Amino acid sequence: MTSVDLVVVGAGTAGLTAAAVAAADGLQVLVVEQLAPGGQIATVDKIRNFPGFPDGIGGYELGPLLQQQGADVGVDFLLDTVEGIDPSANGFVVRCAETTLEARAVILAMGSRRRALDVPGEADLEGRGVSHCASCDGHFFRGKTVVVAGGGDSAFDEAEVLAGIAKDVVIVHESAKPRAQRLTVERVSALPNVRILPEARIAAVGGTQEVEHIIVDGPGGRSEEPAAGLFVYVGLIPNSAIVAGLVETDDAGAIIADRDFQTAVPGLFVAGDLRSGARALLASAAGDGASAAAAAVRHIRQIASVGEVAA
Ligand SMILES: Cc1cc2nc3c(=O)[nH]c(=O)nc-3n(C[C@H](O)[C@H](O)[C@H](O)COP(=O)(O)OP(=O)(O)OC[C@H]3O[C@@H](n4cnc5c(N)ncnc54)[C@H](O)[C@@H]3O)c2cc1C
Repeated sequence: MTSVDLVVVGAGTAGLTAAAVAAADGLQVLVVEQLAPGGQIATVDKIRNFPGFPDGIGGYELGPLLQQQGADVGVDFLLDTVEGIDPSANGFVVRCAETTLEARAVILAMGSRRRALDVPGEADLEGRGVSHCASCDGHFFRGKTVVVAGGGDSAFDEAEVLAGIAKDVVIVHESAKPRAQRLTVERVSALPNVRILPEARIAAVGGTQEVEHIIVDGPGGRSEEPAAGLFVYVGLIPNSAIVAGLVETDDAGAIIADRDFQTAVPGLFVAGDLRSGARALLASAAGDGASAAAAAVRHIRQIASVGEVAA
């Protein structure tokens, strides 16, 4: 069984930052990632608010850069899916789909996955007009109308990308004011081919082979928006299932931690979007990762010194 000081689960911004900080402090670190480095931003066109990049940076560029920074200080990477974590005499056993690992401490950084609208037609037309990635699928809608569901930063950022490709973009969000950052809202609202429908919700996705129209319930009643695409950004679900029953979670399923980013299980830390109370921002995820790494380093040194005294 491969044995390391620290296993980090997830190679998003939180996990990659944690790994680099812990390795730079002398720990033997292994990051387990099921897909590719970068996490949620791996397909995002432009990140405008990550410190150090005044002109913005592609999300697809940031992940590999963070990975490189970790690799340069000795972080190892494993492409696998963690299926469960069990406390053991030496720390933790990390059960992956292809292998089993042992670690003295673990940082959970599995982030979150997209919430669906759960309306008729959405699942049937997934991949046939229903999408979650403007920079991957936007070009299919050149010269057409698309609807974006959601009022947060992801929805507005993606709407901006789509506005550069599609003929028209209609943003549908439930609250009176969008939750996205003010500057983003101002920039997107000023685009000539963007229309915003507040206090409205999507009731159904219409079409036989492909998306043809979106049914919207708004203050003026039900309407039908002709559209070839629907891009959904209506919130996230924390990926905490692999530690269900082991750690405490909030009502949304995010993991509760103390001020040292430690869960109720000593040696098991959490960072990034997965942490209860986290801001869904890349800079916050990086900060979480660095703090969780520092706490994990302290934890490992403490148990090592207790072991030496006992010996
Ligand atoms: C479309 C979009 C645009 C955004 N734009 C911005 C922006 O411009 N600025 C900003 O600050 N924030 C933005 N965000 C938010 C930002 O992406 C998140 O706050 C950030 O990615 C959280 O990082 P994380 O490391 O906690 O988790 P994630 O990025 O979600 O990474 C988690 C990683 O863990 C992996 N994983 C999950 N489960 C397992 C498992 N069991 N085994 C192995 N690996 C696993 C996943 O594959 C993933 O790679 C955006 C989000 C979206 C969806």
